[in-house]
Amino acid sequence: MRAESVETVRHILCVFPRYTSAFGTFEYAYPLTDGVQAFMPPQGLLLIAAYLPENWPVRFIDENIRAATPEDFEWADAVLVSGMHIQRHQMNDICRRAHTFNLPVAIGGPSVSACPDYYPSFDYLHVGELGDATDELIARLERDPSRPERQVVLKTADRLDMTRFPLPAYELAELKRYFLGSIQYSSGCPYQCEFCDITGLYGRNPRLKTPQQITAELDKLLECGIRGSVYFVDDNFIGNRKAALDLLPHLIEWQKKTGYVLRFSCEATLNIAKRPEILAGMREAFFSTIFCGIETPDPVALKAMHKDHNMMVPIMEGIATINSFGMEVVSGIILGLDTDKPETGQHLMEFIEASQIPLLTINLLQALPKTPLWDRLARENRLIEDEGRESNVDFRLPYDQVVETWRACMGSAFEPGKLLQRYEYQIRNTYPNQLRRPRTRQQSSWPNIKLGLTMLRNIFWRVGVLGDYRIEFWKFALRRLVRGEIEHFIASMLVAHHLIMFARGASSGQQNASNYSMRLREATVPAE
Ligand code: SF4
Repeated sequence: MRAESVETVRHILCVFPRYTSAFGTFEYAYPLTDGVQAFMPPQGLLLIAAYLPENWPVRFIDENIRAATPEDFEWADAVLVSGMHIQRHQMNDICRRAHTFNLPVAIGGPSVSACPDYYPSFDYLHVGELGDATDELIARLERDPSRPERQVVLKTADRLDMTRFPLPAYELAELKRYFLGSIQYSSGCPYQCEFCDITGLYGRNPRLKTPQQITAELDKLLECGIRGSVYFVDDNFIGNRKAALDLLPHLIEWQKKTGYVLRFSCEATLNIAKRPEILAGMREAFFSTIFCGIETPDPVALKAMHKDHNMMVPIMEGIATINSFGMEVVSGIILGLDTDKPETGQHLMEFIEASQIPLLTINLLQALPKTPLWDRLARENRLIEDEGRESNVDFRLPYDQVVETWRACMGSAFEPGKLLQRYEYQIRNTYPNQLRRPRTRQQSSWPNIKLGLTMLRNIFWRVGVLGDYRIEFWKFALRRLVRGEIEHFIASMLVAHHLIMFARGASSGQQNASNYSMRLREATVPAE
């Protein structure tokens, strides 16, 4: 559904801010592709864009692709902005630019919902999810599009049922410019890990769309030009296991109908390894990656952060089980925990070696508002507000030692030879367990072949000729070429190159130690 039509027409400019350079945005992979400029289409802003009254013209701009121009602001009657904490400074900058055109600016999304105080200049704060606050915002803009005298805070008390969400306005976004497609089936997670703000923001009882909404969204994503992979951005894909089981047959059917044109990936807790029936369905639906917040291999630390559910199966066994269904595990890792010891970095390196996980997001602990960790550290007087620091946590171990451990782990884990060896392991041991897709006309179509050739050319030129880890690259490349593993070669090199380049910056102190850190905030990914 969308908001009721209203008589007055308002031109709405939706602007998504640039990312701050981060491990998880893959910007070093973009030059190896055929024109990717941004990570994932922003679900929240495209959802709001689709919900606005039908007769309100909407323009969507992702500033990772192009910056909003004076002409865009002149066209608009109001500006909507959304984003995460790490984009805070960019969001405030969009607000400043819109105000030079005397436009009212509203901000919604996860950052303002957790920290309204971060956004003192905005005219409207939309706190919470799509719901009565959204209707109120629309009503106010309809009544009067001038800037209110003082800031108005609108809080969602009555959320719109997800089964009534409209299809996100993917038609407004240039989907071909994104590294991954995104889709959301559920919101919320039943667990309460100490550091995580999901439960505080979205609740413990996952709310759901219907499987039919998801297949309709997939149809729309395809129509609008998405290719390659689509990421389920659900906080925990198995937060409601029955719902995951209900969805999978629909995904399988959709894949058969469309010729398996997309790969899927998602986030889920590691105890998914206890549910072979879910893993089997995911294999059939062509899921190829699961992000698991393993956080640490240390059982004492997992218990302390209330993530005992990671130990429902031994961690190594859980990873091997997921791999046996053809899915690669991507792991979140946190350093700087209260339970860390001087040897924690060494233990992490041993874990990486043993698990053969190629892609790990290694972050320093950051306390987010609306989390039990924030409350505990506030009680213990261990929150530090200093944007020059890598984290707002007063660690138990000396700060310099923790940061140095993080840098050393980043440098070591993503040494080209070691990383490509872990991809070699996945190509030999995990990917052969994937579903064998029937050959389709789409796979051998000229646009698909041209796309592959373009990426191969870019990889060989930029990494194999101009790169500075050529020996490791060519060893890996020649083995793939001899075995005809071209698809695996392209997919792993896109990610591996980003990890290698980002980790170099990290180990030399030029990158943030947390996806949430505000340090180096000016080092944003440039809009091209
Ligand atoms: S399982 Fe994941 S999403 Fe759920 S509370 Fe823990 S960290 Fe957050």
